[in-house]
Amino acid sequence: TSFSELGLSEKIVAGVTQLGYTTPTPIQEKAIPLLLEGRDMIGLAQTGTGKTAAFGLPLIEMLLKLPDRPANRTTRTLILAPTRELVNQIGESLRGFVRKTHLKINQVVGGASINKQQLQLEKGTDILVATPGRLLDLISRNAISLSKVTFLVLDEADQMLDLGFIHDLRKISRMVPAERQTLLFSATMPNSIADLAGSYLKNPVTVQV
Ligand code: AMP
Repeated sequence: TSFSELGLSEKIVAGVTQLGYTTPTPIQEKAIPLLLEGRDMIGLAQTGTGKTAAFGLPLIEMLLKLPDRPANRTTRTLILAPTRELVNQIGESLRGFVRKTHLKINQVVGGASINKQQLQLEKGTDILVATPGRLLDLISRNAISLSKVTFLVLDEADQMLDLGFIHDLRKISRMVPAERQTLLFSATMPNSIADLAGSYLKNPVTVQV
């Protein structure tokens, strides 16, 4: 199977080819067509399986089909991850995928200048990658609103719960529109993740690698 057979357009395929991706990984092969159909998804996959492209490429494809980005200090796509390192890693991978497009990616994490992040958000965002705590700090400063979010990704959800982010996640879930596509990735599926998925996702398809 090739990336174009999964339903991705030439522009996106050309971009990943340049990055040296020739064949989709198993999670990409399973997830990309379902995500392009608009399905909510639980992905049971570890880092290293190619999961960033599995969710990133279809989200970018769908974003490119939407009209111009809404006002600055909003975002259509929110990706939550447990640690700075992971947020930065996701942001870097996505930057590689959007190189030939107009899409803007922003990363916000604790331990870095919040003022600088606030200024970046004022310039507009299509995809925001964030740790939950810093995101809530920026929301309370009115630096970003989640009222335009149509794609929500919870990455390494099990680790987010282990790190005690459940209350932050619940708060964030009350700020995003009900009408959205939600993806949850986790390496493990304890009851706490099943509960989280039950309250966040609608009729999700489960993909496991
Ligand atoms: P991830 O699981 O998203 O952290 O990706 C693990 C690594 O695999 C990253 O360095 C990606 O750049 C790389 N990668 C992802 N998908 C592919 C692919 N289809 N072909 C080659 N490398 C890939």
